[in-house]
Amino acid sequence: MGAEARTFTIMNWLAVCALAGLVLVPSFLVNPGVAQPPSVIDGELGDCREIPPHELPPPAIDVSKVIPLEARVLVERGDRAAAQKLFAVTKRAFSDIGIRVKTRFQEVDPPRQWGDGDGLGTGPNQEAILTFMKDLFGGRRPDGVDIVYFMTRHWAGGFADCIGGVRYADRAFAFGSIDYSFEGVIPAPTADEGVIAAHEIGHLLGAHHHYSNCVEALPQGAPRGDLNPCTTMSPFAATASGTFALLERSFIRRYAALYGNG
Ligand SMILES: [Zn+2]
Repeated sequence: MGAEARTFTIMNWLAVCALAGLVLVPSFLVNPGVAQPPSVIDGELGDCREIPPHELPPPAIDVSKVIPLEARVLVERGDRAAAQKLFAVTKRAFSDIGIRVKTRFQEVDPPRQWGDGDGLGTGPNQEAILTFMKDLFGGRRPDGVDIVYFMTRHWAGGFADCIGGVRYADRAFAFGSIDYSFEGVIPAPTADEGVIAAHEIGHLLGAHHHYSNCVEALPQGAPRGDLNPCTTMSPFAATASGTFALLERSFIRRYAALYGNG
């Protein structure tokens, strides 16, 4: 890291946001028009969260330098075609911020005790799913792979092992639903599973929920029919779009550049 990056401070960030005319509004303040409490994609759990690496990254205004990211995507048998289609949204979200996600899909057979994936509250917990994923590879992501993601019928929403998990071979694991609107304790009909995958991989690449806002998404998303008002790291499933905010992508690109080897 150069001296220039080391001197970038919170004051620089505030100045950049002010100059850009952006008001970074916490998404929970402006969740629009939802009569019921909003459904959440996930909670921020995990024990390796921290602001990376040593200080704030410079703002990623220029994303023309492409950063590669190698993803292994696990799917249950028979779900490959559906997952590939959903993952196109994920890849587009990252390509828009200059990260080229290369995917390799791998079909897996989950433990029989997980059931058929339509039970409410009867499926596996987070630890069981993470353990299953890691055990496939001896506890660590495969060589040459940056992150492992499981698009599964056995979870509603998403979960990342830890924020910034790409730094660790044994923590770069996340998963999310393949059909959030059909299974799920909390139905969220507008949740896009490709956005959920982008959100969870965003966590692995250092992004927190409070980096999101509900200002930047619409101008970029509306032309492609994405009318969700909040940026991808918003935890609210019904409002999260496939557009990363400036703050989100600044951290994500920094993590991908420093810790991804894809
Ligand atoms: Zn989250």
